[in-house]
Amino acid sequence: KGAVSQVISGIYGLVTEEQRKKLLMTLRNAERLNLMIDDLLDFAQLEAKQVRLDLTEVNLVDVVREVHSSFYSLAVEKGLDLNVEYPVAYMLVTADRNRLIQVLINLLGNALKFTEKGEIKIVLKDGPDGVECRVTDTGCGIPEEELSRIFQRFHQVKHAGGDNPKGTGLGLAICKEIIELHKGTLWAESSFKKGTAVVFKIPKTAGPG
Ligand code: ADP
Repeated sequence: KGAVSQVISGIYGLVTEEQRKKLLMTLRNAERLNLMIDDLLDFAQLEAKQVRLDLTEVNLVDVVREVHSSFYSLAVEKGLDLNVEYPVAYMLVTADRNRLIQVLINLLGNALKFTEKGEIKIVLKDGPDGVECRVTDTGCGIPEEELSRIFQRFHQVKHAGGDNPKGTGLGLAICKEIIELHKGTLWAESSFKKGTAVVFKIPKTAGPG
């Protein structure tokens, strides 16, 4: 990727517009391959239970606000609203902060990918047996018969319109492993063509499952 970037920048000589386009395509594909390999390695380790959670006391409200601010401009660029809702400013759980951020990045990434207009919302709810985090969107939705399959590795739904954004099909399988390591549950609710909610619930004092 470094070498291709250098050629594009012109330090090795003039690059024609046609060459630049092909090199940019090469770079994008290399980046995609890189992401796929990262996902594959991560999933393999999680599935083999070779991942240890780095547990600390985490304020889920902070985590959600952090992810909200990093996705905000992407959502606005796409003409979407991105909001967060939480009942109190402190919702403490014992969890692996970076892993929870990884889950939220995946869920928001999907919401953004599969929503063309409307709103994406992250809603936190406190319950007696844990904290629930719901990422809702007003996107294309998922047909009922596909709802449980989207958590299987490599499974991708053929969405209407045919122009399906590319991904690895591993994101939700990784999220599920991470949430289950926290002794939590992850599921999806969807109204086809109206939107989707992907929800996880983790106990307040999660530990390795
Ligand atoms: P990827 O996004 O890389 O394809 P994921 O495991 O994250 O893989 O998701 C699997 C599939 O579930 C997606 O390809 C898509 O078909 C469906 N999906 C996930 N989230 C949403 C969503 N918010 N709206 C509609 N479909 C979704």
